[in-house]
Amino acid sequence: MSAFGSVFMPEMAISWFDGSQWSNAEVVSSDSIQLHPGAHVLHYSSSCFEGLKAFRHEDGSVKIFRMDRNIARLQQSSDILALPEFAPEQLEQMIVDIVTRFADQVPEAPGSMYIRPTHIGTEPAIGKAAVPSLTSCLYVLLSPVGDYFTGGDKALRLLLDDEGMRCSPHMGVVKSGGNYASALQPIMKARAEYQADQVLFCPGGDVQETGAANFLLIDGDEIITKALDSTFLHGVTRDSILTLARDMGMTVSERQLTVEELLERSARPGCEAALSGTAAVLTAVGTFIYKGKEYEVGNGGIGETTLLLRRALNDIQWGRAEDKHSWLTSL
Ligand SMILES: *Cc1c(COP(=O)(O)O)cnc(C)c1O
Repeated sequence: MSAFGSVFMPEMAISWFDGSQWSNAEVVSSDSIQLHPGAHVLHYSSSCFEGLKAFRHEDGSVKIFRMDRNIARLQQSSDILALPEFAPEQLEQMIVDIVTRFADQVPEAPGSMYIRPTHIGTEPAIGKAAVPSLTSCLYVLLSPVGDYFTGGDKALRLLLDDEGMRCSPHMGVVKSGGNYASALQPIMKARAEYQADQVLFCPGGDVQETGAANFLLIDGDEIITKALDSTFLHGVTRDSILTLARDMGMTVSERQLTVEELLERSARPGCEAALSGTAAVLTAVGTFIYKGKEYEVGNGGIGETTLLLRRALNDIQWGRAEDKHSWLTSL
């Protein structure tokens, strides 16, 4: 199986904003787009994206998971980056159309079709470092993905970083390219120096999130995770897992969690930690690395509650459990 996100469907949906209106969405080849080398996005990172998935059910039908949430988040990202506005119905139609076109390519469980809507500033104007792009391009790429967990389901090692930040705090809720560029050096350093898989950013000791996933601490029947604020990305998976946990009768505590409390709690037997995101679903964390010392979470392996919650979410996505919260959209 090739690396996640490296295989694309040959066509994508695309629409251009010319400064006054959006073009009718088209389906075009996905092998290239034409941009001026001075395009705003290439210099000043006026770029944002989304990641969501379509799933094939046993009856052959294809369903898209929580599309409304991802569309609303791309609108918010676009707004914060001062990119042109688009109507949610416009993007919804583009997503449904392109997924319908490639419906027969949606892998069976445990695979899925990863959907990548992207919005970029296209105005050729390198003088606009502090001015928004008046023109933009919105497109939807598709990438079939396999089971993220094949090849051994191993608990992750996270470096706790209480000095750096993933991104500038006012950019936390924006799914924007610049934020990933900003987190890259700390992550590369953590891999090289500590064989860590990811960095858990804890600015000023406040446990926040990793480079591309939210963090959940599971202590018995309580889940503790940072309360929503403007400094971190509000994951759709995070929201879905918390909803399912409440449905199962678990206590969900959305509040501040310090590194100190995290390390103290995670040493307890039965404690679990996990990362949530569309790609990873819910991935167990087995070890924290902090100030040169290693701390095992619970028994250092994959927690039972983590597996239970992951399965509960997957069961809805693949149509094996009732979609009580109306999270699925039919084509
Ligand atoms: C995408 C992303 C997440 C997870 O969001 P989902 O909607 O669950 O996929 C969390 N943190 C960051 C920084 C992200 O980019």
